[in-house]
Amino acid sequence: MKKTVTTLADGRELIYYDSADDTVRDAVDRRPLDAVSTSSEIRRDPLLGDSVAIASHRQGRTYHPPADECPLCPSQEGRLSEIPDSGYDVAVFENRFPSLAGDSGRCEVVCFTSDHDVSFAGLTEEQAALVLEAWTDRTADLAELPQVAQVFCFENRGAEIGVTLGHPHGQIYGYPFVTPRTEQMLRSMESHRADTGRNLFDDVVARELADGDRVVLEGEHWVAFVPYAAHWPYEVHLHPRRRVPDLRELDQDARTEFPQIYLELLRRFDRIFGPGEPPTPYISAWHQAPFRAPGREEFGLHLELFTIRRTSGKLKFLAGSESGMGVFINDVPPEAAAQRLREVASE
Ligand SMILES: [Zn+2]
Repeated sequence: MKKTVTTLADGRELIYYDSADDTVRDAVDRRPLDAVSTSSEIRRDPLLGDSVAIASHRQGRTYHPPADECPLCPSQEGRLSEIPDSGYDVAVFENRFPSLAGDSGRCEVVCFTSDHDVSFAGLTEEQAALVLEAWTDRTADLAELPQVAQVFCFENRGAEIGVTLGHPHGQIYGYPFVTPRTEQMLRSMESHRADTGRNLFDDVVARELADGDRVVLEGEHWVAFVPYAAHWPYEVHLHPRRRVPDLRELDQDARTEFPQIYLELLRRFDRIFGPGEPPTPYISAWHQAPFRAPGREEFGLHLELFTIRRTSGKLKFLAGSESGMGVFINDVPPEAAAQRLREVASE
């Protein structure tokens, strides 16, 4: 893997990750870009104790541009994009319209491929392996920034999720604090340790394997299951069998097997609702240990993949109970979801 770090016309960082070690990336960003004023502000909610990023500059961001003006496609003569080169394998750059910036963290965009018309599920194993390398390397680089407490690599796929660009891409948020969901997992982990003397993540995976009903896919180094108390209609958690706190500590065996397992999960997701359905909208979210939290070594890196579609043409909205009270109501029993995800396995 070859990594090339460069800067865009307004000073934002751009990093190319290429499969071929002899790749040269020396194209210069020739756009007349003004520096963006990013005024995101973190406000703390006094009742809940959680934080909200107020990012008013984002209202002007690029919204559903036509494909020939895609800012994530490589640049061509007469059509300059965020990627100055005429091609790339994987490219990561600082978001021009970040939700978090400066002392408030960092937002990056990860372009999975230069091909506008493919989805992650359509990548080759080699391409998916390179994306994993990029996620891992970004986690390592952002760990060095004092203002970043936690790194979240994720993909939103589908207009139903609010994706404003069709090009296959994901994002990386470097939060300046430990997020509420992670804090909650750390608390559950600590109390489980106090009650049982065991690790919570290990016990959750062991229970799912023992029950078996909700297991979707087993590799030699990864296990995927619908969790016992799934919040979403179709939700899969993917854990490495050897628990590690974050992407940097995955061993080579797990890295090598990951593309095959993850691509198969994504392909199954697209088949859940049967042929003729538009691609399944999904959120794919890596849960990693915060860098400086006590007990981080006990955290279990895992990926949570879920869709908000509950049946053909119908979305699960976060309505009164979910949005008002934080209580999820899931119409699809986790065992039935797992059964469906096994039925639609690739031949
Ligand atoms: Zn594009």
